[in-house]
Amino acid sequence: MSSTTTAPIVPSYVQGGWWTPQDAQGSPVRDAATGEEIARVSADGLDVAAVIEHARTVGHAALARMTLHERALVCKQLAQYLETRKDELYELSFRTGATKRDNMIDVDGGIGVLYTMSSKGRRELPNANVVIDGPVEVLSRDGSFLGEHVLTPLPGVMVQINAFNFPLWGMLEKFAPALVAGVPSIVKPAPQTGYLAEACVRMMLESGLVPEGALQLVSGDAVDLLSHLDYRDALAFTGSATTAHALRENPRVREGGVRFISEADSLNAAILGPDATPDTPEFAAFVTSVMVEITAKAGQKCTAIRRVIVPRDRVEDVARAVREKIDQKIVLGDPRADGTTMGALVSLEQLDSVRSGVQRLIDAGGRPHGSLEAPEVLRADGSRGVVEDGAFMSPVVLTFDDADADLVHSLEAFGPVTCVIGYSDLDDAVRLAARGAGSLVATVCTNDPDVARTLVTGIAGHHGRVLTLNREDAKTSTGHGSPVPHLVHGGPGRAGGGEELGGVRAIKHLMQRTAIQGSPAMLTAITGVWHKGAPKQAAGCERFGGSPEHVHPFRKALTELRVGDALVSDLREVSLEEISAFATETGDTFYAHTNEEAAAANPFFLGIVAHGYLLVSWAAGLFVNPDPGPVLANYGLDHLRFVTPVAAGDAIRVELVAKRITPRVTDEYGEVAWDTTLYNQNDEIVATYDVLTLVAKEWPTPSVG
Ligand code: NAP
Repeated sequence: MSSTTTAPIVPSYVQGGWWTPQDAQGSPVRDAATGEEIARVSADGLDVAAVIEHARTVGHAALARMTLHERALVCKQLAQYLETRKDELYELSFRTGATKRDNMIDVDGGIGVLYTMSSKGRRELPNANVVIDGPVEVLSRDGSFLGEHVLTPLPGVMVQINAFNFPLWGMLEKFAPALVAGVPSIVKPAPQTGYLAEACVRMMLESGLVPEGALQLVSGDAVDLLSHLDYRDALAFTGSATTAHALRENPRVREGGVRFISEADSLNAAILGPDATPDTPEFAAFVTSVMVEITAKAGQKCTAIRRVIVPRDRVEDVARAVREKIDQKIVLGDPRADGTTMGALVSLEQLDSVRSGVQRLIDAGGRPHGSLEAPEVLRADGSRGVVEDGAFMSPVVLTFDDADADLVHSLEAFGPVTCVIGYSDLDDAVRLAARGAGSLVATVCTNDPDVARTLVTGIAGHHGRVLTLNREDAKTSTGHGSPVPHLVHGGPGRAGGGEELGGVRAIKHLMQRTAIQGSPAMLTAITGVWHKGAPKQAAGCERFGGSPEHVHPFRKALTELRVGDALVSDLREVSLEEISAFATETGDTFYAHTNEEAAAANPFFLGIVAHGYLLVSWAAGLFVNPDPGPVLANYGLDHLRFVTPVAAGDAIRVELVAKRITPRVTDEYGEVAWDTTLYNQNDEIVATYDVLTLVAKEWPTPSVG
């Protein structure tokens, strides 16, 4: 090795302070491109029980003082803060062998997850700490006994054990949902790149935004950490299938009830449709995608394309085209050198492991396209040559005559390596893809909708994500290898059987789903959301339960409004003239509103009926309060259902109840959902829906200046 200097040990951040072992030597970590020792790793002697206790007590309490929206806002602010310092992260990331393009995935991708979780959390979850999951079930005839599911934060901690290849994305894509859910995180990065995770954690703490105890870092091994976990906790692992198996066997997971989320390795496939001949745009897009996937992060991506499955007569064409594309586009070198497009593997150990994997694939019948010799690379100073201590490797494309060679479907050479095999027909392509025994992602490249349907439905059960690639999305696609925070990441079987990301699903995974049962009043008190049958304080028509003591709820600012505040209207008669006028005005002359005979022949009506939208408009006329006030706007309706038709001579009335109040953490107003029911003169339900409004927090609005 080129350096003899002993580098400092990467510190851990625990119990509110930085910690480094006193006497430990630690294991060395080296710059991937030069071999220079840059850090040492050890957490020997760390009191891990105290770390977990700190998260369970201090961390949980700090997070519980905030609502889901407040925590989601912290996520966004952290993203904004990290953005101002990402150049420092890029610089450090070069040392892991990552290029500028790789940094976009790890650094920018990680920050991107913070943004997305923040925005999704604030849009799709309540500004509360109890989330209702799914509809209410009415469990008694009279509606006095209800049931539903609620989500609350896990009572324990989330320990994340991360792989070396995405030290930031891997950490942030787990931390963001845990933070929003209200669960403290203990991060244990992989030793090879943990110094980058440490730098990022340090920045987040320096921002002053992280609630106390919500984030701790253990820069060492995790074995002791696991022995203190129990059923309250989650263990989120990303790494090899071998380590995943070992962790699954850990007594705390096997018998202690620790929730185990596993994102393991995967032999991802890309399938070329029979229609995608070499002269088509699909063929070109496919070749580019394979080239990108095996060279980004020097092929050290869990989602990289490992198996290229193509029509049997196109195996050599595809391999040659991929090889040519690599030769055109790829400049292997030190990530700090101008012009480098592919960096080094993370370490010499990793290089050895990938080389031996390639040799085993060759022994299993693989013909390599590309050299296995130590490559000449671009050095940081611009010169070219072989760097003995740099973990560089040229991309290798292997072709096989036997598409069923076992190693193709079982060995993950975690570097710039891919295998090209041939299929006889679409069923054979599906069968080969399934031989991966559960994968994170596959690409299906075709411009033929029938081929796409056959392949995608055939392989979907074996995959967490499937990307269809054709001429239309080739330029706009986010790519085979990039999990997007909006969609789930994870796959069955070998891929770990876990599920991460997927928008607010990621947050919900870190919450306990509990079925709760009780009266409408109790469920209202527990959830903060009004349930039909719970007490209400109604203003309006006394005949229907309104009281002059109560003010119209549209006159109340958000801070005064309570769930259960309501308005009941009087009846309003419906005439044929009004129905006809609405039909003429709007052009909606559908026969049920205009032709008595045809309407009567319809199985649902006895004759002409009022338009549903006319009823909804009349309802608004019955419940609005016309004067300027705290209600700022109506932004839509949810769950609209028309139940009983209304004919001329009938009458309708409306009941409107404040159901869900969601103050925005970033604005001077919030959302109110109003449970709305239209009745006819016989008290039959005509329509049900939620009216959605924006309401000012204060009214009159506080004057400025
Ligand atoms: P790894 O060797 O499995 O290590 C992953 C993490 O597990 C490291 O932090 C490692 O730290 C820790 N670890 C290993 N043995 C452990 C044990 N017995 N108990 C507790 N922790 C243990 O994987 P890697 O080499 O870092 O990463 C590459 C692999 O990750 C590839 O196979 C890749 O496909 C996979 N990966 C999967 C995803 C995904 O999302 N599915 C993403 C990225 C990478 P120590 O060495 O300190 O123990």
